[in-house]
Amino acid sequence: MTGYPPGCAFFDGRFCAIEDARISVLDWGFLRSDATYDVVHVWKGRFFRLDRHLDRFFASAETLKLAIPHSRDAVAAILAECVRRSGLEDAYVEMVITRGVSPTFSRDPRDAVNRFFAFAIPFGWILRPQEREAGLAVAVARTQRIGAASVDPTVKNYHWLDLVMGLYEAYDKGAGTVVLPDDAGNVTEGPGFNIFAVRDGRVATPAAGVLHGITRLSALELLAEAGIATETRAVPLDELRAADEIFATSTAGGIMPVTSLDGSPVGDGRPGPVTRDLIAAYWVAHARPDWSTAVADPAATEPTG
Ligand SMILES: *Cc1c(COP(=O)(O)O)cnc(C)c1O
Repeated sequence: MTGYPPGCAFFDGRFCAIEDARISVLDWGFLRSDATYDVVHVWKGRFFRLDRHLDRFFASAETLKLAIPHSRDAVAAILAECVRRSGLEDAYVEMVITRGVSPTFSRDPRDAVNRFFAFAIPFGWILRPQEREAGLAVAVARTQRIGAASVDPTVKNYHWLDLVMGLYEAYDKGAGTVVLPDDAGNVTEGPGFNIFAVRDGRVATPAAGVLHGITRLSALELLAEAGIATETRAVPLDELRAADEIFATSTAGGIMPVTSLDGSPVGDGRPGPVTRDLIAAYWVAHARPDWSTAVADPAATEPTG
């Protein structure tokens, strides 16, 4: 036993077992969090919204002036091959591009050789099984989410010290996870998830200062299809505290009910009807041909738009 989950990686141009995928301690991805990444999941042998994840990954890399050394189609084929070799039906598939190492050890990021790698490991849930039924206990941190003028939150990044310190605040309060405010008293997001508030049948989620999650997008689209009014705008913490229902969205777990906020029940303390219907619609949507692609068929990615 290695202690590693089963999985397969693509590393330095080759496929290998996950435990053999290691980077140099000199890589700026590690030393400086100088990297971007994306995570797509595979459910019952199908990628979910792979095109959206590839769009975001390539856009993030471009913003950070990182050069992905493969075409978009080649990345899709590499991800599919990682999943195929891992033998996993449900997988969490991560693609990463780091600044890499400068061969001359210069401090100029333009001298670094960017490094791409990818891997497939078992599907991971943010919530433990009992929490998926009962819903999540969330605390609001004092720590603010790093400002959008400093680190572009729409680029998926490893600047997580605010989120991790927020988690420790939440644990001290007996909560399982955390959401961070911005400097104006609005809610932003949590460690790897977006947040939604339901009030009087209308659903709101922060427009700015957050990653534009693909699960957030799916939730907005599924709610609109169900005829439920959605708003993307600033969501004050007071509005969150007054919500009838709250839910979180993430590739790692989908739509997750939040049933307690800072120790007080949300609504009646049980997952509410909007959240429950959305969870059902979300899993049904995994079979939609326009939202999913068979791992065995990486060339046939779904149309964007
Ligand atoms: C990945 C992530 C999310 C959720 O995005 P999905 O595309 O739905 O997985 C939200 N916030 C942060 C900070 C993230 O890193």
